[in-house]
Amino acid sequence: MIVSAQKPWEEILGYLEGENSIFLLGCNGCAQASGSGGPEQVAEMKEKLEGVGKKVSGTMVIDFLCQKALVKSRLRPRMEQVAAADSILVMTCGLGVQAVAASVAKVCHPACDTVNMGGSRGEWKGDERCYECGECLLEYTGGICPLTACTKSLTNGACGGASNGKCELAPEKDCGWELIYERLKRNNQLDKLRRFIPPKSWDKMAPDPKVRATARWALENSG
Ligand code: SF4
Ligand code: SF4
Repeated sequence: MIVSAQKPWEEILGYLEGENSIFLLGCNGCAQASGSGGPEQVAEMKEKLEGVGKKVSGTMVIDFLCQKALVKSRLRPRMEQVAAADSILVMTCGLGVQAVAASVAKVCHPACDTVNMGGSRGEWKGDERCYECGECLLEYTGGICPLTACTKSLTNGACGGASNGKCELAPEKDCGWELIYERLKRNNQLDKLRRFIPPKSWDKMAPDPKVRATARWALENSG
C-alpha cells in the first residue's frame, strides 16, 4: 500500500495557472484508501476547480493508476475529453502519476505527495519507482521522478556525464535527465528546466510519528 496525501490547494492551483480545462483522474487503489484521490476526492476537486472558473472536461477513477495497461485501456473511450483538456490532474501517489505520464501524451500534474512509509511495496510491477520523498517533484520533470530515474538523484538537471543517452555511473541505464528533457520537450514544457528546485528537505522522508502509530505502518513493516 502506497500512502499519499493531497498537496496544498494553492500549490495545485499554481500548477494549473494559465490552463482553462482540466481532466481529473483518480485512483481506486491506495489513493482511495488514503483519502487523497478516490471518487469522493475527485468529485470534491471538480467542484473546487469549477468554483475558481476552471472547466473540467471529464473525470475518471481507475482501479490502479500504477498499472499502465489498465490506464491506457480505461482511458481509450475517454480520449476526446482528455484531448479537450489542457492537462490531466492526477490524484494519486508518485508511481501512479509517473505511470499516467508515461501512458498518455499530455501534461500531467501531480495532486498528491507520497508519504514515507519506510519503503512500501508497489501494487504492480513496473519501471516506475518512488522513494516516497514526501514532497513530489513530478510537476517540474514531466512526470519522471528525478530521485529514482537519475542515479545521483539530481534535482536540477543532468550532471553532464551521460554518453549516448546512458548514465555515466550505470551505462546499462538511460540517463534519467535525458529522459526528463525529452518528455518536457514533447510536452512543450522546456521552460520548466529554468526553475531552480531548492535543496530537498529530507526531513519530509522521516515518517510522521502519527503514521508510525497506524496499523498500516505495522502491516507494511512487518516481516
Ligand atoms: S518526487 Fe519521486 S520520490 Fe518524490 S514523491 Fe514524487 S515520485 Fe516519489
Ligand atoms: S548521467 Fe544522467 S542519470 Fe547518470 S548521474 Fe548523470 S544526470 Fe543522473
